[in-house]
Amino acid sequence: MMDSLLNSITQRQPPLTETLVELAQINSGTLNWAGVNQVGWLLSEMFCSRLNCHHQQRSLPAYRLIRTDGTVVEHRLGDLHILSKRPDAPLQVLLTGHLDTVFPEDSAFQQCQWLDQQTLQGPGVSDMKGGLLVMLEALSTFEQSPLAQRIGWTVILNPDEEIGSPSSASILAQQALCHDLGMIYEPALPDGQLAGERKGSGNFTAIIAGVAAHAGREHHLGRNAICAMAEFITAVDQLNGLREGVTLNVGIVNGGVTTNQVPDQARCRFNIRTRIREDELWCQQQLQKIIQQINTKEGISLTLHGSFGRTPKQLNQAHLALFRLVTDCSAELGVPLSWESTGGCCDGNNLSAAGLPNVDTLGVLGGNIHSHTEFIKISSLVERARLSTLVLLRLAEQPGIWSRTRA
Ligand SMILES: [Zn+2]
Repeated sequence: MMDSLLNSITQRQPPLTETLVELAQINSGTLNWAGVNQVGWLLSEMFCSRLNCHHQQRSLPAYRLIRTDGTVVEHRLGDLHILSKRPDAPLQVLLTGHLDTVFPEDSAFQQCQWLDQQTLQGPGVSDMKGGLLVMLEALSTFEQSPLAQRIGWTVILNPDEEIGSPSSASILAQQALCHDLGMIYEPALPDGQLAGERKGSGNFTAIIAGVAAHAGREHHLGRNAICAMAEFITAVDQLNGLREGVTLNVGIVNGGVTTNQVPDQARCRFNIRTRIREDELWCQQQLQKIIQQINTKEGISLTLHGSFGRTPKQLNQAHLALFRLVTDCSAELGVPLSWESTGGCCDGNNLSAAGLPNVDTLGVLGGNIHSHTEFIKISSLVERARLSTLVLLRLAEQPGIWSRTRA
């Protein structure tokens, strides 16, 4: 029975490929809410018709971005979808995937193209429209087994992962509490491995106000915000290397209007990656020292916005048991797998922070994600769907050992 189920997936590559091309060619850059919704509708319809599950569609709060002058601009986001089945079963599995991509509506990268018979290039084919189809295929196959009765599951399709899941984070955290384990369909690491530990991440915006003055007539009356920002950036950069696993990257800087005016505004945005939870406090303290120093300058005032949106994903015993289950299943299918740590983060960080053990790279194999040469190894749609199906079947064989005390 198990073998025939797993083998049935092998026939599914042509329709999966066709659907993947269709989904990838609908632009769903995070801020293109209409495109995200289109992908969400198509997918949730496929989930509902193949899985006969409960479906809920939720609108999310707008995404707030801080402008140079400190004012806030709000971006509408696409809807989040929750699909679920058998909420009373003894074991509850949370499966998540994101609908958005990093490619905006006006990106030059909108179409799929075959690089060779095995390699399809296209926006989001790996990250992670391919993964969403793997999830659907695995659940559909699993549902044909009598063991399916032992597992209840919830699928979350969120619209804002690529900007750090600011508006879906609270729903992810809430859902994590009422499940036993998580399966996330981010693409595998470039060598096919699973991601183990993941760094935490925070995004910050520093805004400096100075005093404007005419560059020729009253230069001495001005207080140059850009020069103060240059000092701030240098000090932030010098924190690199001081603490193991902590990196700070200034990514965006702007300010000023014209060369004949002392600029009274400057802004920079930077990202911090952390290895362990305690790193956050250390960073906050170092930043405070730098800010105090800058703010001693007469006429200059620096304010810092932002926070650590994602805490590091550290592996506890429950995580390790789940990783072993996945690698055992993969070995059984003839594909030896292991896991390694990575500096990137994803919703796996969020679920871990809420106490839910999870494997977050169950999606497809491919590469060059977040670039215009993103590709998928097309055979991995089937391979990875077989892997997830087997994992679900193994979980269902012994639901008791995987269930935990839930909220
Ligand atoms: Zn992704």
